[in-house]
Amino acid sequence: MVLCSISLVSSLSYLELSRETEDSTVTRIDRAARAAAAILEHGTSDLFQSTSDSDGNPSSLRLSVPTYLKSNSQLDQLITAIGNSNDGAASLYKWSSTTNVFDRLATTFDDTEGSLHFEPSIDRNHPAFANLVEGRPFIGNVPVQGRTRLAYLIPVLLENNQIAGVVEVDVGDMDDLALAKSRLQTRIVSAAILIIALVVLIGGLFLRREFRPLRQLAKTAEELANGNQPDQVPYTGRQDEIGDLAHGLERVTDLQDKLHKLAYIDQVTTAGNRARYFADLSDALKRSKSGTFGASLIHLDFNGFSKINDTFGHQIGNRVLLQAYVRIANAFGPSAQIARISSDDFCILLPHDIEGSIAETCANRAIELLTAPFNINETEIRVEPRIGIALLPQDAQDVETAHRVAGLALRAAKEGDGLRYEFFSAPLNERVQTDMLMETLLRAALKTRQLTLHYQPQICPKTCSLTGLEALVRWPNKNRGFIPPSDFIPIAEKTGLILELGQYVLEEACKQAAKWTEQGFDFGHVSVNVSPLQFRQPSFADRVKETLEKHNLPADRLCLEVTENVFVDTSEQCVHDILLKLQKIGVQLSLDDFGSGYSSLIYLHRLPFQELKIDRAFISEADQAEQKAHLFQAIVGLGRSLGLRIIAEGAETEGEFALAAIYGCDSVQGFFCSPAVPASQLRNRLEEIRKLASSKTIAWEQRRA
Ligand code: C2E
Ligand code: MG
Ligand code: MG
Repeated sequence: MVLCSISLVSSLSYLELSRETEDSTVTRIDRAARAAAAILEHGTSDLFQSTSDSDGNPSSLRLSVPTYLKSNSQLDQLITAIGNSNDGAASLYKWSSTTNVFDRLATTFDDTEGSLHFEPSIDRNHPAFANLVEGRPFIGNVPVQGRTRLAYLIPVLLENNQIAGVVEVDVGDMDDLALAKSRLQTRIVSAAILIIALVVLIGGLFLRREFRPLRQLAKTAEELANGNQPDQVPYTGRQDEIGDLAHGLERVTDLQDKLHKLAYIDQVTTAGNRARYFADLSDALKRSKSGTFGASLIHLDFNGFSKINDTFGHQIGNRVLLQAYVRIANAFGPSAQIARISSDDFCILLPHDIEGSIAETCANRAIELLTAPFNINETEIRVEPRIGIALLPQDAQDVETAHRVAGLALRAAKEGDGLRYEFFSAPLNERVQTDMLMETLLRAALKTRQLTLHYQPQICPKTCSLTGLEALVRWPNKNRGFIPPSDFIPIAEKTGLILELGQYVLEEACKQAAKWTEQGFDFGHVSVNVSPLQFRQPSFADRVKETLEKHNLPADRLCLEVTENVFVDTSEQCVHDILLKLQKIGVQLSLDDFGSGYSSLIYLHRLPFQELKIDRAFISEADQAEQKAHLFQAIVGLGRSLGLRIIAEGAETEGEFALAAIYGCDSVQGFFCSPAVPASQLRNRLEEIRKLASSKTIAWEQRRA
């Protein structure tokens, strides 16, 4: 368009210029012809005569009278005639031999007001000067008042061909033409520049307006590419290509949103997922490197959540998790970045919590909110939240450590009895590290079968005969001797290693019992302790059966001891079912440490136990304190009334042993008779017990009476 405009203007201008040039040329030829005719007609007089060249054009005027050139009427007539004929100016110049300049003598122009005045003299700088001094005419452009005009300059010669002057005939406006031409050129250029500028300006404005949506959409696309989700894609309402493009971007945004949700959002709770959590944590740690930013990292989970899944199914479990997430979000507020990283593990980042005081307040609030029951399908479900808190960057500077230390704090909170939240600290770290070391060593000990069993006799106080043996696990250690079970059984239970350990003990005890049976040693039964986790295993009863069969041991030779802790995480019905399965196999069942935990007398009569092991606390020093003795007696009586075999644990003294005998316990187990000993020492031990008993029998008989 720009080029067309310029071409059009240029063509029009060119046409105008050509027309003017043509007009001007015609005018000049006409004026020159008329001037020449005037010279030839008036140039032949008594004063001078014109000479002409071969074409008939005047070439000089020759003075016929040998005189100086001076103004006179004939010359005036000549230049007047020339002036009249060519509609221009004519002037007469006289040669001055003293100054070597042609000085103007006369002119047809006498008006001084703005008219064209020929130069007062023609000096050597004049283009015609060289021709004229040699007596030759000059036809060409001459300067006139700073402009250029076409002129005839005809020399006036004396008889002896000496120059006397010049007749100058103004033919045309050379300069005007050039002026017009240049003005026209200027106009064309200006117009072109103006058009270009206008086109650029209007085009720019137009393009700006037209490209604005494209720019905005490009910005939106860039945001998308940077992983940011734009609030809204503009121009989706337009019905043109821009609208199509916007719709396309909107679809990409939706897709990105969906992908983002899949990649970073937990589908069950709508909290962040594991990937979101680690990204946020890494970001927080990076920011914390500035020195001005701090955050607290909170790990939260529920003790025994698997029980909810087991009891109510995963769907209900998921609904609990969703409601729990809502409560967690309420407790920790909008600045918290919450993620669920696995089953019931929530991780929360609280930015700008340098001292951890916000975390503590929120943790208390979360515990309060989460311990309120969840009502799902008209069922009240309760969870037990536990929280571990680490402070960033004080406690950790990298993602792995941060995650680990918050996890350690949670682990400590889960292990602690009353405390439901725990801050990570150096002593806590040490404790947990020790536990972890113990776990590693225990794992290795199990693998290399370092663990051995000792057996503690259970003696009938009436007959002083052996009724059974309790298998107690021992961990021999080069430096520490035997590591007591109280040091490693809790760790084995926490880590799940107890399953492996329990099976190992069961195998070893059955193997030994089968050996004794083969040797004809009547040991009564072998009692094996079963931890709650082991007991809850769905395959537990089958395992027991398999082990008995493997070692060819009659089932009634095995007694399984469970403590009241099996009721902590398992419903009574569930315990009942497992016990029934075991009962069917034919093994004996004993309730260990009775009275030490939360004892419920109701389940005691409903569950198929054959034996009640009264906790050591009841017999300890009971022979010294009457009330304690009564309590012990009452428990023995209670067990008896339920038809259970009663065994008193931990009789350390003769008095305690005698008391158990007096109150009618079926068996007594304790240091008084013997501690747990290796199988190899057992027969010697039993011999010692028999000797001891026979020396004391009379005394006990007397006390019983
Ligand atoms: P428990 O099943 O109640 O075992 C009896 C504990 O009392 C044994 O401790 C035994 O050495 C101790 N004891 C026996 N007589 C006396 C006494 O007269 N006075 C005192 N003060 N203590 C006496 P031990 O061997 O240290 O075992 C402690 C606990 O560790 C056991 O208590 C049992 O709960 C657990 N445990 C031991 N071996 C195993 C095992 O193989 N599997 C499982 N799951 N737990 C085991
Ligand atoms: Mg026991
Ligand atoms: Mg016990």
